[in-house]
Order: sequence, then structure tokens, then C-alpha cells
Amino acid sequence: MERQAKIYEGKAKILYETDDSDLVIQYFKDEATAFNAQKRGIIEQKGVYNNRISSVLFEYLKQQGIRTHFVRQLSDREMLVKRLEIIKIEVVVRNIAAGSLSKRLGLEEGKSLPEPVVEFFYKEDALGDPMMNEDHVRLLGLATPQEVRAIRKRALLVNDHLREFLYRRDLILVDFKLEFGRHHGQLLLGDEITPDGCRLWDKGTLEKMDKDRFRRDLGKVEEAYQEVYQRICGEKA
Ligand code: 5GP
Repeated sequence: MERQAKIYEGKAKILYETDDSDLVIQYFKDEATAFNAQKRGIIEQKGVYNNRISSVLFEYLKQQGIRTHFVRQLSDREMLVKRLEIIKIEVVVRNIAAGSLSKRLGLEEGKSLPEPVVEFFYKEDALGDPMMNEDHVRLLGLATPQEVRAIRKRALLVNDHLREFLYRRDLILVDFKLEFGRHHGQLLLGDEITPDGCRLWDKGTLEKMDKDRFRRDLGKVEEAYQEVYQRICGEKA
């Protein structure tokens, strides 16, 4: 499957058409951004690690019966996916307080939540991705109430599966962001599942092993991505 015209270039990925109008290629870049692109940098080999990590996780979710846009990994940096009509909601699931939840509600980072918390953010860079509730989703016509229910249920199911899969690899899934889309009337999980959009802490030391190392200038950023890659994919870089 060959890359054809570029459809869209985002902060971390580029989407290309293919000769099949139902399928597109996601190309993973090394560029990293944070704080709505006010901070920019390069994380060497991130695109290669993220493509592989995401492929393994999508494959695992598929085995668990969760429908995703993933078709197959094509190369080091390319993944073949089903074309989606993206739903402009960033769905965040949290197991442990961190990041914006800690800030917003004054919860100490690292505090376990009694049950997972699901949050919706409006995927709109110009507005800085503000948090929103289900009434706002309806107001903006982003998804039907039925879709919102399905998204919430699916996101919690993904959380259950990923949490367990990652824990077996000595990683604690603190929180993560998902995106969904429609494909011929079906709701599919889209985008990527990588340390760019998940908080992952080492089970033993609670060391941060995700993009927070870049966001917060903690150093050893590439090393963290490589370590997560090795634990998830079982491969030496
Ligand atoms: P927070 O709301 O605490 O900043 O982020 C919660 C979780 O969602 C984190 O795992 C974070 O990586 C992810 N997340 C939230 N917004 C974005 C985004 O715009 N891009 C990416 N890649 N991840 C995000």
C-alpha cells in the first residue's frame, strides 16, 4: 500500500490517502509539542516507537473484541488505518490523579481514584481544547447521546484492558486520551495509543515514562520512550 496525497499534517502525525478511498496511512513523526504547541521539540525515534507501540496495543484491543481503525503496520513509521469521520471529542480516562485533574480539583498527584473518571474535551486547538460536558457535546452537535454513551462505555473498557496489559509489563496506566470516529456507520477507536497521550509510571519506582518528561523538562525523554517500547513490544531498539 503506497502513500498518495497528503490529507492532513498534525503535530505528531501526517495522514496520507491511499489507492483505496476507505483506507489512509498514518505517518508518525519525531516532533513533540506541549501546552497547545507553545513548547516544541524533537524526541529522537519517537515516531518509530509510537508506531510500534500503538500497533501492538491496537492489535491487543482487537483481540479483546474492541473495534479500532487499525488495519496493519506498514513500515517503521507507517500504519494503515480505516478512514474515519473524526468526532471532535478528546476522551480522557483517569485512574490516578495527575495533570489537569490535580490542578482543577486540588487533588494531590499520585492519589488513586476510587473508580475511573471519564472527561470530555473539545478537540479545537484555537480554543485550547476546553473541557466540556455531555450537554456541550449535544449543543455543538459533535455526537448523538447514543454515541456519547457508547464512547464512554468503550473508553472504560479500553481502560480495563490496557491497565491490565500494561501492569503485566510493570507500567501503571495513570490516565490517557482517546479519540473516536465513524466509519460506515460504525464507531471505531482512532488516533494512537502511545506515551504521547498516556501517563505511564514505572510500577516499582513510580518514575514517569511518558511525555510528561518532555512537558516538565525531566530529562531522559528518549530513554523513557525506548523503555516503554521494549516493555510493550518486547523488542530491543
Ligand atoms: P491532562 O488533562 O491531565 O493534561 O491530560 C490527561 C491525559 O490525556 C494525559 O495522559 C495526556 O497525555 C492526555 N492528553 C490530553 N490532551 C492531550 C492532547 O492534546 N494530546 C495528547 N497527545 N495527549 C493529551
